[in-house]
Amino acid sequence: MRHTASVEAIDALLPQTQCTRCGYNGCLPYAEALSRGEAALNRCPPGGSATIQRLAALLDTPALPLDTSCGVESAQQVVWIDPERCIGCARCLPPCPVDAIVGAQRQLHIVLEDRCTGCELCIAPCPVDCIVLRPRAAEHGAAPAPVDNRQRHHAHRARRERREAERLAVLAARKRLPHSSTP
Ligand code: SF4
Ligand code: SF4
Ligand code: SF4
Repeated sequence: MRHTASVEAIDALLPQTQCTRCGYNGCLPYAEALSRGEAALNRCPPGGSATIQRLAALLDTPALPLDTSCGVESAQQVVWIDPERCIGCARCLPPCPVDAIVGAQRQLHIVLEDRCTGCELCIAPCPVDCIVLRPRAAEHGAAPAPVDNRQRHHAHRARRERREAERLAVLAARKRLPHSSTP
């Protein structure tokens, strides 16, 4: 059954890590599915029981225990890149939804701890397993706020879409060159 709460109101309650553990491609798609009444409200491990309670109140639906098939609730985490092992391949950059990793090809990459949500999306793409998940400690500072996560994710997506459009434009321009049609 479709809920009367707006997608924006539901999305505002989600942590915005974009981790995909709910089974959706980010927080907004999960919010949209919740709004349509197509998803259970207990699928967000980063939000945990507090988010479930807020969603239940907004959607006027009973709260449920976290669905552990999506993951378990844990303390805030942050990743660290082992400088002795990083080969500078840059494969960890595109998957980070909030641009928390900086570096260039053949250079050591580092994590901006004040941006890192601990979403883990950068870990699997690393070919040398040098990205390590750690509990967020006092030295790392406070975890980023959901509103900042959302803003950084929007900027990340916009930049990737712009680059893809530029890449396609270059390919199209090459195809139009006279020599490109010769075998
Ligand atoms: S933070 Fe929660 S809602 Fe957002 S993608 Fe992760 S599991 Fe889904
Ligand atoms: S650095 Fe890794 S764990 Fe941290 S936000 Fe980016 S992808 Fe997620
Ligand atoms: S994917 Fe791993 S090895 Fe490659 S730049 Fe990132 S941290 Fe370094």
